Amino acid sequence: MFPEYDVIVVGAGHAGCEASHAAAMMGSKVLLVTMNMNTIAQMSCNPAMGGVAKGQIVREIDALGGMSGIISDKSAIQFRMLNRSKGPAMWSPRTQNDRMKFSEEWRLALERTPNLDFWQETVKEILVKDGRAVGVKTSLGLEIKSKAVVLTNGTFLNGLIHIGEKNFGGGRAAEKAATGLTEQLLTLGFEAGRMKTGTPPRIDGRSLDYSKMEEQPGDEKPGKFSYSDTTPLDKQVSCWITYTNEDVHQELQKGFDKSPMFQGRIKGLGPRYCPSIEDKINRFAERDRHQIFVEPEGWNTVEIYVNGFSTSLPEDIQYQALRKIPGFENAKMFRPGYAIEYDFFPPTQLKLSLETHLVTGLFFAGQINGTTGYEEAACQGLMAGINAHHTAHEKEPLILKRSEAYIGVLIDDLVNKGTQEPYRMFTSRAEYRILLRQDNADLRLTETGYKIGLATQERYDSFLQKKTSIDQLLKELSSIKADPETVNAGLESIQTSAIREKVVVAHLLRRPQIGMPELRQLSPDLKALLDKYSPEVQEEAEIDIKYESYIEREQKLAEKIGSLEEFKIKPDFDYDRVKALSSEAREKLKRIKPETLGQATRISGVSPSDISVLTIYMGK
Ligand code: FAD
Repeated sequence: MFPEYDVIVVGAGHAGCEASHAAAMMGSKVLLVTMNMNTIAQMSCNPAMGGVAKGQIVREIDALGGMSGIISDKSAIQFRMLNRSKGPAMWSPRTQNDRMKFSEEWRLALERTPNLDFWQETVKEILVKDGRAVGVKTSLGLEIKSKAVVLTNGTFLNGLIHIGEKNFGGGRAAEKAATGLTEQLLTLGFEAGRMKTGTPPRIDGRSLDYSKMEEQPGDEKPGKFSYSDTTPLDKQVSCWITYTNEDVHQELQKGFDKSPMFQGRIKGLGPRYCPSIEDKINRFAERDRHQIFVEPEGWNTVEIYVNGFSTSLPEDIQYQALRKIPGFENAKMFRPGYAIEYDFFPPTQLKLSLETHLVTGLFFAGQINGTTGYEEAACQGLMAGINAHHTAHEKEPLILKRSEAYIGVLIDDLVNKGTQEPYRMFTSRAEYRILLRQDNADLRLTETGYKIGLATQERYDSFLQKKTSIDQLLKELSSIKADPETVNAGLESIQTSAIREKVVVAHLLRRPQIGMPELRQLSPDLKALLDKYSPEVQEEAEIDIKYESYIEREQKLAEKIGSLEEFKIKPDFDYDRVKALSSEAREKLKRIKPETLGQATRISGVSPSDISVLTIYMGK
């Protein structure tokens, strides 16, 4: 019934969709096995993509040839560039999305992908022969063969849903949990843990009074995620902001004795930075209100997502508390909020390629690795799909450095440090923030995507054209000089000191008050020059000039540290022979098996003196 596949991907969430698309586009014969084909790329929680640090990841996925950016653009109902008032390292694109369209667009994209087959069923077991994954076994008992397997089971492995005192098995509301796989992986020697996450109730938007809320419209000139030719929105839907109050908090407190979290029924660790509303009022008792974002779920639905009100309190408590929020007095509830506990596998059991140490050809990606969030899942799926394809075709894995991409930071953190709670990306996790901006993801990664056969020729050509244009504009701005009279007259309205001599135009851009719009005012010639270039090229050139010294500093640091990254450690290196290592370092090094000396420096518990010992021992 089935041919032998190169790659089997288990699960069609955000990780599984990217993994199967990437491997198939690169030429692998791929099978995507998922429990329910009607929930492909389901947004389990908020209908939004991107945001701080996550928006950068979506752009990186896009630059490499992945689909999350394109799907987000096609299903967007609102676009905002967050943190515009801060430096460019912090600018973060975010879309509000039509939940149903997001899922539909992903399914259509996968159906159009060559080399990709589908099968709707639950995978119960990984087929392993001589330490290698050779396929999967399904709940119907079918054995399907492949050269590599990617597991992206999300929150489904032994998922347990909690609402107040009730709990029942489930991978997500109204979906079955997946059983059997964790148990088999444990027998193979894997370690598993338990985590928890939660989601808010959904409301009928027709029952809300928006006059009591603050409107949050999209950007006046909406942007988009993808560097390809998707079109920005020409109309948008607003979100709304309201607040909880003491009355809401009192209603919620009435349910604390039935809370699965406070009563200890939930054992798994939840995300500290994304607490439930009961957790917020408990932990921050001094605060008399919490912000609530009222987010529409799509163009054609009245359903509303109540962002900031994640809860697992009993449904009647949820309902009574919601109705005390200004604007929610007559709210009708569509679905209650809930919490879910699920199995994950500590990611220190993985190589940087996302292949497991224990079973060759077996890859893990997404929430199964202890992360949370669509973007975090999608980028791991992309990398696992690429590397599963490489394994199936006996090629070297693709590993992105921390100085190249947030994706590199995420995987490096997971593999070397592991995670005690659901891991989400923050800009603070990246040490090369000024290099890893959302605007330059294409300049950083398109070439890599093209070389591995994932980014298309069209993408590559447009990247080359953009790069040439930026270089050309930088050259022109550095060669043109402007007279003091012209400059001082042109910049009269701006708070900036006058100049006395001719000045190179590029140098003017170093002043914080001066950007491309101000340069444009200086002379008709400069305006004509800038008009030759797209807004993206102008933005890139301006950032390059304004932040030149910071960029250079980070580049130098990356190069310095890069020398340790070049120093490879053999997979069978015997750490027991290095007597001077601390016992903690020896234990961690043996478990994580770093691929380079650079990677060894980032393992928690491995100190600088352990690195010196290793460096001397290895004769570097
Ligand atoms: P999922 O999107 O969970 O997809 C897993 C897929 O695998 C599904 O299609 C499932 O059917 C399939 N599957 C599982 N097991 C099998 C099997 N054995 N055989 C075949 N198919 C299988 N993220 C946040 O960033 N913030 C939040 O506040 C947040 N809250 C959440 C609340 C809830 C209740 C849930 C469920 C998730 C929440 N998330 C949140 C997490 C977010 O949904 C996930 O991070 C993201 O969806 C993970 O993507 P994934 O691809 O790893 O898995």
